[in-house]
Amino acid sequence: AWFTDPALVSVLALLNDEGGEARVAGGAVRNSLMGLPVADVDIATTLRPEAVVERAKAAGIKAVPTGIAHGTVTLVLEGKPFEVTTLRRDVSTDGRHAEVAFGTDWQADAERRDLTINALYAGKDGTVVDLVNGLPDIESRTVRFIGDASARIAEDHLRILRFFRFFALYGSGRPDAEGLKACARAKETLSKLSAERVWSETKKLLAAPDPGRALLWMRQAGVLTAVLPETEKWGIDAIPGLIEAEKAFGWTPDPLLRLAAIVPPDRERLGLLSERLRLSKAEAAVLDHWASAPQIAPKLAETAFDRLLYRHGPQGLSFRLKLALASARTRGLADPDALAFAGLCQRLLARAGKWQKPAFPLNGADVLAAGVPAGPKVGAVLGRIEEEWVTGNFRDERARLLVRLEEVVKGERPLP
Ligand code: ATP
Ligand code: MG
Repeated sequence: AWFTDPALVSVLALLNDEGGEARVAGGAVRNSLMGLPVADVDIATTLRPEAVVERAKAAGIKAVPTGIAHGTVTLVLEGKPFEVTTLRRDVSTDGRHAEVAFGTDWQADAERRDLTINALYAGKDGTVVDLVNGLPDIESRTVRFIGDASARIAEDHLRILRFFRFFALYGSGRPDAEGLKACARAKETLSKLSAERVWSETKKLLAAPDPGRALLWMRQAGVLTAVLPETEKWGIDAIPGLIEAEKAFGWTPDPLLRLAAIVPPDRERLGLLSERLRLSKAEAAVLDHWASAPQIAPKLAETAFDRLLYRHGPQGLSFRLKLALASARTRGLADPDALAFAGLCQRLLARAGKWQKPAFPLNGADVLAAGVPAGPKVGAVLGRIEEEWVTGNFRDERARLLVRLEEVVKGERPLP
């Protein structure tokens, strides 16, 4: 059990002293009650942040003021971080940001949390404190808002996405009907949130071990279209096959690949999506490479694949291959052609994994030296010789390419 961890025991002992009270809160309690691994341990306390810092310092424990304004101090013990947050209650909210006040009221702190399964505490001896009737929901794996669902969503619209994310992670059966209805009614409010919060939450949802069911319910509630209109005429049917393939081939689940499985490979639309949700440059680039990579032909030769790798990079092509492989696997049970194609995709995927981009042996200086005047023509000539070199499967070496360059410059044997 997580509360026998000596570092955690020390932190709890330190804070449950001289009139202070502290309990493990939120995700750590939820996961341990569900028998799932606990990632990080958050602690709630009646002590003010300054008092937490003071006590930590006196005990020689490192205290980092990670979010003093929200009441959070991170204590680091034996290399493990513990986020300690002073009890809070909501003062006011505009649906995007809540103004909070520190307090000493456990009930108020529990009630400002989103879901019943996320609002349990565990005292220093491991006793679970349930102020929102969360234990039965843990037992039945019901994802349920605390209090009135619509009111809780009006306080913070991101809770719509959290509802589906936690359903994807921990829910069983159907989502709570009242919560689902409230999310459907409030879907338009998602557009008021900052893109960063929406994307970060969407990514977590897509990263769940199996987001398939949650995505279906999101689509049904109209929430999926509100966040990702690109999925509308495309669909989420590819998700189960992708999850199966991930398991079968041991691929690390990748939220971006899962996103690619449910949106059309259209560079322009994906560019707009990346802007709208403020994807990182790296994420946007991966989606763009994927969309610009060509479909994998059923009998693609390895040499032809190397040329594609050179032109489109391994990232976009591996997305193409993985999605093609997943769908071929799904069809393959009854279709020998699909099975053969799946085999090809697997080989090409392995090839893409170890591929290193060959260096083109010529550069601009060579073109200038061959007598082309400085200007846009230099790049054009270089690009066309590079294209020829790629078409020839990178076989020509520098000496041969220099001869070819001379031919081109003299107009003896122009490029096609
Ligand atoms: P994990 O970190 O494993 O994804 P978690 O439960 O720790 O799950 P966090 O997003 O880290 O989730 O939030 C910690 C706790 O803070 C939650 O368990 C919940 O009680 C509360 N919380 C977080 N975000 C909100 C929110 N938007 N509205 C209400 N409560 C929230
Ligand atoms: Mg957490």
